[in-house]
Amino acid sequence: MQTLQQNMASLTLEKWNKRPLIISGPCSAETEEQVLETATRLAKTGKIDMLRAGIWKPRTKPGMFEGNGVKSLPWLLQAKKITGIPTTVEVATAKHVEDALQFEVDVLWIGARTTVNPFSVQEVADALRGVHIPVLIKNPINPDLELWSGAIERMQKVGLTQLGMIHRGFSSYGNTEFRNAPMWHLPIEMKRRFPGMPLICDPSHICGNRAMLQSVAQKSIDLDFDGLMIESHIDPDNAWSDAKQQVTPGRLLEMLEELVWRNENSTEPEFINALTTLREQINQVDDELLTLLGQRMKLSDKIGQYKKDNNITILQTNRWNEILERAFKKGEAMGLTREFITRYFDAVHMESIQHQNKIMNS
Ligand code: PEP
Ligand code: MN
Repeated sequence: MQTLQQNMASLTLEKWNKRPLIISGPCSAETEEQVLETATRLAKTGKIDMLRAGIWKPRTKPGMFEGNGVKSLPWLLQAKKITGIPTTVEVATAKHVEDALQFEVDVLWIGARTTVNPFSVQEVADALRGVHIPVLIKNPINPDLELWSGAIERMQKVGLTQLGMIHRGFSSYGNTEFRNAPMWHLPIEMKRRFPGMPLICDPSHICGNRAMLQSVAQKSIDLDFDGLMIESHIDPDNAWSDAKQQVTPGRLLEMLEELVWRNENSTEPEFINALTTLREQINQVDDELLTLLGQRMKLSDKIGQYKKDNNITILQTNRWNEILERAFKKGEAMGLTREFITRYFDAVHMESIQHQNKIMNS
């Protein structure tokens, strides 16, 4: 006869491989009742593959609720027994790992504030040597892909094979639309670096509020993410942490039902033909753009030579403003946003300055 632990191991593997993989639960395990009630209601939706709850909470400031620690692990184990859904918690130290394993947590995750610290990541990795458990690694709070990759490599080096990534956005100074800016190009680059590794989006910590959750979740699906981790609480407004961003299990179900799930590919010949033709056209246009950019830099080189001969600075602010203004006008007419024009011309300008610098100093 199989034990509960063996059953859970095969169920966890099944869930781990399921797409989309949906993880939900409260930001923090506050009370036994809150954990069990949230888990029961989430289970009723029939859409949750893993239950999450913060046991140890790395809070920015002292005096905030830092989790109930090991005392709350039995609540999560009980939630699993009642619902039959595997569980996941955040671990940041070797002791956390030991406690979580003792209480049969099925999947571990490394939080954003831990991924930034190679000492902590290594400590967790060492504690997991020889253990077969899936581990999800959140991006570091700062937009540093080497730290994110490094944490994954540390886990790989101790022999862990079931690894996944969670994109929870990147923090910055000052108020922005997001609590943590998504910077979508970064998780996309991670997908390229670690092909086949599941990539989960955590819209809760990206948004920091309920209003934008749905659109951020949809965006991640459109970008071919493998699943979602969304915080859910029976009484979000009175949550002990992250009150603004949590949703009730009922609201979560509505959200999940409204999402449009897409396929990465289609075998429909008509679709494939149309896509191939359009992609060929895009390749053609890209080639032309690169040729033109090359020509533009050659003109820059010539200007650089004249400036050098006449001892003139590379940067002339007036001229740069004139270029931008022309580009905004023309770009707008072509349906391009000001934001794109600015970023594009900044890149072109930097390359051009680099070319002229080389000439000036040759
Ligand atoms: C959390 O998931 O509750 C959490 C603390 O997230 P992060 O590590 O992304 O800040
Ligand atoms: Mn949280």
